[in-house]
Amino acid sequence: MIGLEYKNNSLYFDGTKVESIIENHQTPLYLYSENIIVSQFTKFLNAATNQKINNPLVCFALKANPNPALVESLFKAGAGADIVSLGELKRALENGCDPMKIVFSGVGKTQADINHALNSGPQGIYSFNVESISELEMINELAGLKNKIARIAFRVNPKVHAQTHKHISTGFKTHKFGILKEDIFEFIKTSDQFKNIKIVGLSVHIGSQLTNLDATEKAIKEVCEIAQEIKTPLEFIDVGGGLGVDYVKDKSTPSADVYMSSVSKVLNEYSSKLNYTPRVVFEPGRFICAGAGIFLTKVIRTKKSEDCYFAIIDGGMNDFVRTSLYEAYHKIIPLKQNDNEEIKTEIVGPICETADSFATNYPIQKLKAGDYLAVLDVGAYGHSMASNYNLRSRPNELVIKADQSIKVFEYKL
Ligand code: PLP
Repeated sequence: MIGLEYKNNSLYFDGTKVESIIENHQTPLYLYSENIIVSQFTKFLNAATNQKINNPLVCFALKANPNPALVESLFKAGAGADIVSLGELKRALENGCDPMKIVFSGVGKTQADINHALNSGPQGIYSFNVESISELEMINELAGLKNKIARIAFRVNPKVHAQTHKHISTGFKTHKFGILKEDIFEFIKTSDQFKNIKIVGLSVHIGSQLTNLDATEKAIKEVCEIAQEIKTPLEFIDVGGGLGVDYVKDKSTPSADVYMSSVSKVLNEYSSKLNYTPRVVFEPGRFICAGAGIFLTKVIRTKKSEDCYFAIIDGGMNDFVRTSLYEAYHKIIPLKQNDNEEIKTEIVGPICETADSFATNYPIQKLKAGDYLAVLDVGAYGHSMASNYNLRSRPNELVIKADQSIKVFEYKL
């Protein structure tokens, strides 16, 4: 629970008394800490530097949290951006990201996406991480029309099974992501005909919320083997994102240091075979921002159904979908601790779906209407996955800035 503590039974987040926030703002809402997100970024980068990883470029995956104030502070701290849409590209550029620190992943890049990226900055973006040969052909053609050279990396599909939820596993041949090794080699034979691309790297991303690094190591090995076969030296190897977060608080998730030593171990094994040392790009999202956000919600009413005790809250699966979509576990704590007996509670939202649940059989002090709760570690894939389902507005976001002022982002239907 980084940045969270109780003082006189009241919850504080990054030094701010959370009750003082809800006195002035309607729930449900997201509350973020700029300090925490920047310190996670620094921790990640330092872990890379400590392992002597070559010239690391940490591209924050905007899909995890594209809040303008947060990404601006990350870019100021030196981060690049991993983006997957025109919207994310514009968000990154508008908030100060250097185009030469942007990598563009995604299987469905459109002409408009590619054109905008080609026009970003004097040299375009750092890399189109291409996910198919047909995408590469489109990039070559569009770059040709502009008389430009697009920097590209092949996103490799390494055919590994990442041990994570099936919805966020992305590195097997049956997944839509990346290009198989043999198809990359086949393409390279003919690559001279493609005058408007420059192959500058290889990338891989096998999934999210990875708590076991075996598949990550295998995937990086596969990429290094491909690099060995490509005779011309590559500028970089992009090892993707995916490092997991300890939502359950059982300390079973690898730290940034453990992750980096695993990455550097594989890269070092290959560095002598390669005869050169490529730069290493990372695309972390969740690790950087999950702990930087809490979701504040109010109990509307409680009800009993035989032995089930329900607390119906004003936040729903439209605001925060992870518990419904992935059956993810998130710790939930009261804003005000009291001496009420602890009872196993179904914490559910107001949406007309049984899946609209934040926690089931969850031991918490007996709740009543008007109590406030904080759902923890929601800074990643929280607001970015929110919707208007049931014609509800997306929740507002508040950022506790480094100087402790509050910046408000309001959303209307
Ligand atoms: N890079 C790519 C291509 C992704 O699809 C994702 C998300 O799945 C990420 C990076 C970020 O992953 P994570 O938030 O698990 O670090």
